[in-house]
Amino acid sequence: MTKAKLKWRQLILSLGCLLLLLACNNSYQTTNSGIQTLKVATDPTFIPFEIQTTSGNLEGFDIDLMKALAQPATGIAVKFESLPFDGMISTLQAKRVDAAISGITITAERLKTIAFSRPYFKAGLAIAVREDNQNIKDFNSLKGKKIAVQIGSTGADFAKTIPNAKISTFNSGPEFFQDLLNGNVDAVVSDAFATLYAIKNGKLKGIRVVADLLTEEYYGIAAPKDSPHLDAINKGIATLLSNGTYKQIYQKWFNAEPPQLPDSWQ
Ligand code: GLN
Repeated sequence: MTKAKLKWRQLILSLGCLLLLLACNNSYQTTNSGIQTLKVATDPTFIPFEIQTTSGNLEGFDIDLMKALAQPATGIAVKFESLPFDGMISTLQAKRVDAAISGITITAERLKTIAFSRPYFKAGLAIAVREDNQNIKDFNSLKGKKIAVQIGSTGADFAKTIPNAKISTFNSGPEFFQDLLNGNVDAVVSDAFATLYAIKNGKLKGIRVVADLLTEEYYGIAAPKDSPHLDAINKGIATLLSNGTYKQIYQKWFNAEPPQLPDSWQ
């Protein structure tokens, strides 16, 4: 190698090092500025809370809420990861994700293994039947009936309390409604808002919701126990509730005034 060539090589090498140093320094600054990117699990079959569009993008009430939370002020950035609902709690327990937003109901049972943010949505279970079914009106009329539920959901837990019910489990909403329409089951027990939304938007023809809600539930953002991010998430929810953003998102998806939410669960 000639001397001139060697010089060039050295120059390029040191420039490379300089660039590398600058790059490292830059990422150091990002972490130093306090923004943390959370890996957030969601199951985009729970419409309209989480929806996967044909182009692969995520949309929905929960997605809008999580994105609104991910602001410099809260110090949170979000990266979504799609996961089946049934595996979400064990994934959180194993700390393979930092949080999950998926219309997850806060329950005493779940609180034994994972943590939740303050309630961010008032929900409840409802019975769905075929439009022409006049026999199922309430909890008592579900006795001994064939009922479809989603695996691992609060609807599935509820169905276990119905005497002599024959329960079929499904992975997601669209599947159990198909079975209801086919006449394989008499009723579905699931989250009222998701079902009502699908009926209203013409996605569920021939199905109606029996008027009274079976339960009152609250959705929370789930996180592993002792999560260092819950505090920022809770503060973020409080801000969205007080500055009108929550109301805006609620109206966008449900065309209604949001109900009052408690500061904490029970
Ligand atoms: N809210 C119900 C639950 O937590 C169902 C949620 C869902 O299907 N994504 O079990």
